Amino acid sequence: MTGADFQRLRDDFPILARPVRGRRLAYLDSAATTQKPTEVIEALRRYYLEDNANTHRGVHFLSDRATELYEAARERVRRFVNAARADEIVFVRGTTEGINLVAASFGRAFLRAGDEIVVSAMEHHSNLVPWQMACEQAGAQLRVVPIDDDGEFLFDEYEQLIGPRTRLVAVTHVSNALGTVTPLARIVARAHAAGVPVLADGAQAIAHAAVDVQALGCDFYAFSGHKLYAPMGIGVLYGKSEWLAKLPPYQGGGHMIRDVTFERTTYEAPPRKYEAGTPNVEGAVGLAAALDYVARIGLGAIGAHERALLDYATARVGEIDGLRVIGTAREKGAILSFVVDGFTTGEVGAALDRHGVAVRSGHHCALPAMRRFGVEGTARASFALYNGRADVDQLIEALRALRQ
Ligand code: PLP
Repeated sequence: MTGADFQRLRDDFPILARPVRGRRLAYLDSAATTQKPTEVIEALRRYYLEDNANTHRGVHFLSDRATELYEAARERVRRFVNAARADEIVFVRGTTEGINLVAASFGRAFLRAGDEIVVSAMEHHSNLVPWQMACEQAGAQLRVVPIDDDGEFLFDEYEQLIGPRTRLVAVTHVSNALGTVTPLARIVARAHAAGVPVLADGAQAIAHAAVDVQALGCDFYAFSGHKLYAPMGIGVLYGKSEWLAKLPPYQGGGHMIRDVTFERTTYEAPPRKYEAGTPNVEGAVGLAAALDYVARIGLGAIGAHERALLDYATARVGEIDGLRVIGTAREKGAILSFVVDGFTTGEVGAALDRHGVAVRSGHHCALPAMRRFGVEGTARASFALYNGRADVDQLIEALRALRQ
């Protein structure tokens, strides 16, 4: 795929044709949520026109159909992340719910007073607060792997933190605030050498590089559909089958039980055990359509395109006086965080918005990471497959206008 091929892909996303504040829309906020291709929008429409019902096989035609689509989506996700088995794929609302599921269930079953959970200093609040809550309940402690001035994960310090009380490592694959790609396979190998399981937060990785959960070796991997061109409200928790078999359920309710009496309830096997209530069939259908779309373009090509854009954008923001990039790790995802002297991040975001440039400004739900760099927030441009140099040029033009 060439740059011109990617330029044409912009047309697959109808919302990008919408002018914003009288300008062409430069949507540079895909780390917060991606826009959706026509193919996904059509899959949702078709689902409601032809297939909608609650799941459970053998009840009636449409119910069978909805169940088939839901389970086909599970198999589609399995292939996408190369899980060994489809029952290792649990549908959740998003990354946040996936991590909360593990923190609550693992915490209840395996965390005791004096135990330790290891996280990094650049975690999104979603991969920090649930662990704090689990630790608080058990009387356990968080241990934090520091990062350096570039935002690199400090592996040597991490090794020092793994000890006899470590029960789990919870770490991001790609930092949403800094862009850092962590050495996840090495992190997992080191933890496993000490018999410690690893949960990876894949929210910012899944749409930008091929993720192979077996090659990474992680025990849990969570991501959100909406950051992957799919609808909001659907996400995935991958869990190794041995863990899903032994953790207690997260929520109780319909769809997840084998038998219920007033005295005692027995649960379905995973993944149903973790999917209480009516599932988000619509979301799963949309997610499967998004995965088909992404797989057809190829994550290798998408990753290379975004890396080239990030390099271009990083070079060009160097032209802006008083602009400082926050997060300069060697290996970065499609994220460019920065601050501009003399302006709050809110002012930067609002000024860019007036030029039709959508970026995120604020702390990006990663306050500890921001404070590590002595700032309370940044402006963040983030890239997806539909972005091109024209978006970066529009960003630079808007930044120049701000400086003047
Ligand atoms: N983790 C990271 C690294 C993120 O960037 C985000 C969202 O921005 C999340 C977790 C939470 O994702 P969600 O809000 O979709 O649950």
